[in-house]
Amino acid sequence: MSPASGTDGILAVLIVGAGFSGVAMAIRCREEGIGPIAVIEKGAGIGGTWRENTYPGAACDVPSHLYSLSFAPKADWSRLYAKQPEIEAYLRGVAESHGLMPLIRFGTTLRRAVWDEGRALWRAETDRGEVLARAIVSGAGGLHHPALPAIPGRDDFAGPSFHTAAWDHSIDLASRAVGIIGTGASAIQVVPELARSAAHLTVFQRTPPWIMPKNDRAIPPERQARYARHPILRRLERARLFWRLELPALVGFTRVSKVTAQAEAMARHHLRKAVPDKDLRRKLTPTYRFGCKRVLLSDEYYAAVQQDTVTLETGSIARIVPDGVEMIDGTRHRLDALVYATGFDVVGGSLRTEVVGRGGRRLAEAWADGMQAFQGITVSGFPNYFILLGPNTGIGHNSIIAMIEIQVRHVLDCLKTLAKGSQAIEVRDPVQTRFVERIRNRMKESIWQAGGCSSWYLDAKGRNTTLWPDSVLAYRRSARRARLSDYRLD
Ligand code: NAP
Repeated sequence: MSPASGTDGILAVLIVGAGFSGVAMAIRCREEGIGPIAVIEKGAGIGGTWRENTYPGAACDVPSHLYSLSFAPKADWSRLYAKQPEIEAYLRGVAESHGLMPLIRFGTTLRRAVWDEGRALWRAETDRGEVLARAIVSGAGGLHHPALPAIPGRDDFAGPSFHTAAWDHSIDLASRAVGIIGTGASAIQVVPELARSAAHLTVFQRTPPWIMPKNDRAIPPERQARYARHPILRRLERARLFWRLELPALVGFTRVSKVTAQAEAMARHHLRKAVPDKDLRRKLTPTYRFGCKRVLLSDEYYAAVQQDTVTLETGSIARIVPDGVEMIDGTRHRLDALVYATGFDVVGGSLRTEVVGRGGRRLAEAWADGMQAFQGITVSGFPNYFILLGPNTGIGHNSIIAMIEIQVRHVLDCLKTLAKGSQAIEVRDPVQTRFVERIRNRMKESIWQAGGCSSWYLDAKGRNTTLWPDSVLAYRRSARRARLSDYRLD
């Protein structure tokens, strides 16, 4: 992988993925003089999830002045919640201005990574050949392997059908009868757009989401100019947004509490104001606790499902037929096109790349009892292997980029130790076990497990191996620095 490789052809760090995680990691490695490094990216450009999810209406649901890298501020975000093209362009701009482009191999997928114990390095097998690296940092993310539902007859559908994360822009959905399965974070954004353009839209809802107002708006050019002239104002705004979102975590949002009931009352009020029809309101009212599934933000969804050209179908789907969807009560919805807003295979997706650690042990074996990693970053038996946004480090209440930056700092500490001459750094097994026990204990009575819903947060055994069960501040305290006493050095 020249010219980024060292003289011996061995990279100091191979970074997988050019989304927010990979870009942040690469920039910080270079700033700290850690090299040579290279980034491999399966897609054709920078952006990760923000390059893949191009469905109409795609936008962030954390305010952009917070949903951006702390060391790469942008004064001129055009909206409170930027849309996908602006976020993708932002990240591309950050990568370009930091000189990352020559280090990135686009269209390159990591197939397998094997720890070579004798040489203390990783052999990364990509679809474009082998790369040798002292360390691998996976910035591959969890939400990018589309989960298509196991509904009978899925392949029989005669018209175009695709997943929200693989939007087919060549298909003109205007003036067609369109169906969309799912009412999660992706659906909530795409439904208002489809409702505007399609001749008819049928929304297939299995479980109604809790929805709060988004209050999205354009940021006036004068304010953008002020942020550019006085960076302190932009920093203050970022801090304000952080604390506003962090507050629920500080008052214990992870358990069913008085705060849960208050939030439910607010969301019900939003629903009552937006939907006068009692029957429709009942269909849209969740029967599980607020926060059990990801809470959604939208100013448009309730209006969209009340349009004359939109049907909210809450029955159970029996099968997909060539010209539509058949419900178990026999109702048939005739459709020209079908959109799957059915989410991602988080657990299966994270094991798609085979990772073989010390003694030939596979990551899939290490995770047979559920995904786990110390601080969500390092796994015992897998020296010099680091995961960004790994197990139990997802959050729904604040900016995930804050979590990424904490992890990048932790990984940098480890990489600096390697740069000083250690061959391998590996989390001590008891340290990881203690950490995972702490997380599992916290999860036991958490809203995600006790809130009366199922979600992608939980694995097949009903365990939450995806979310961090506390505040960002608590994670910062826990993970920001890599303590050498937690690690074994060779
Ligand atoms: P999701 O939250 O997992 O939602 C999937 C939807 O599909 C759910 O409504 C689910 O119903 C439904 N579904 C799945 N299988 C079904 C079946 N067999 N029959 C009927 N319905 C079925 O997926 P997502 O909306 O793509 O969001 C995934 C995550 O991506 C989010 O939680 C969020 O972290 C991230 N995201 C973020 C944003 C953003 O604004 N920043 C936007 C999009 C996505 P049930 O609820 O009944 O399971």
